[in-house]
Amino acid sequence: MEIKVTLTTNPKTKPSDESKLGFGAIFTDHMFIMNYDEDLGGWHDPRIVPYAPIALDPSAMCFHYGQEVFEGLKAYRTQDDRILMFRPEENLKRLNASNERLCIPKIDEQLCLEGLKKLVSIEKDWVPHLDGTSLYLRPFIIATDPHLGVHPAKNLLYVVICSPVGAYYAEGLNPVKIYVETNYVRAVRGGMGFAKTGGNYAASLKAQDEANSLNYSQVLWLDGVHRKYIEEVGAMNIFFVTDDEIITPKLEGSILPGITRKSSIELLRSMGYNVSERRLSIDEVCDLYDKGKLKEVFGTGTAAVVSPVGELKYDDKIMVINNSLIGDISQKLYDTLTGIQWGKISDNFNWTTEVK
Ligand SMILES: *Cc1c(COP(=O)(O)O)cnc(C)c1O
Repeated sequence: MEIKVTLTTNPKTKPSDESKLGFGAIFTDHMFIMNYDEDLGGWHDPRIVPYAPIALDPSAMCFHYGQEVFEGLKAYRTQDDRILMFRPEENLKRLNASNERLCIPKIDEQLCLEGLKKLVSIEKDWVPHLDGTSLYLRPFIIATDPHLGVHPAKNLLYVVICSPVGAYYAEGLNPVKIYVETNYVRAVRGGMGFAKTGGNYAASLKAQDEANSLNYSQVLWLDGVHRKYIEEVGAMNIFFVTDDEIITPKLEGSILPGITRKSSIELLRSMGYNVSERRLSIDEVCDLYDKGKLKEVFGTGTAAVVSPVGELKYDDKIMVINNSLIGDISQKLYDTLTGIQWGKISDNFNWTTEVK
């Protein structure tokens, strides 16, 4: 299928101060869009068009039953002005895994990769220059059937929008305070926890809001059945470092399989660390802490890449990790991952895709 391009005749003014970009507030001149219609043979009409509102019938299914999936990845500008995407094929593979769970017809990953490259190439000048900034890409799929019956959609839209985003850490890697959630749960095995879908975020807002009001920036979810095993943080996977082991929860269906998580495991193992993907209970974490064996805790995700955790609050127990300072392993992992993403160090794993 050929990707048709219609360029805008009315380009926007690009942000002049890249230190004030923030996250997800500004959008570029173009978007990628493709329709699915069961009676027109599936996905069709892939095209890049000027960024604009989408008109939908008020009865469109995505408004009512949450049949929606999304992805998040970034394009980075290197010092020698090349544009790199980080493991985009992994995002498209995961999008299809989410599709499968939500009865959304699979996309052609090869075509969508071409679409991402073409879109970023057209929006090249929108990839910011300042250290730590990037162009955030948000592919998503929504069900558009104008029908209130509950059934898998027969009409959908796949869209990719782009947003220049600021440096996540303006003043160096700042450890975050995390609230271990004991009241609400995010997902259970058999649910949609492994899928990147809006419903999981809707389910998390209340807990996030309550944690924020207590001055904690994110919640750490425990499993929904035993309320005991560590799952993940808001939009990050989580790692615990002891003297002889780096532990991250095993993927058992209720956790989002992060691409930063996967890359971190591969990198840390290549550096010679003993990384375990296994069940880890909050009691074991408390026990490691009490024995002075909990050296570092960090989250991983596309937005922050690596986010050191400085404090964990579990009921009345407050655990201050590494004196609320960033640990050596967190720093090394951050430097290596961002080094590869911004093309500062060689990409031995072949993780980056250059956009010409
Ligand atoms: C996207 C996401 C992550 C992180 O995944 P990355 O691919 O590393 O960005 C972790 N948890 C949740 C719930 C997410 O939605």
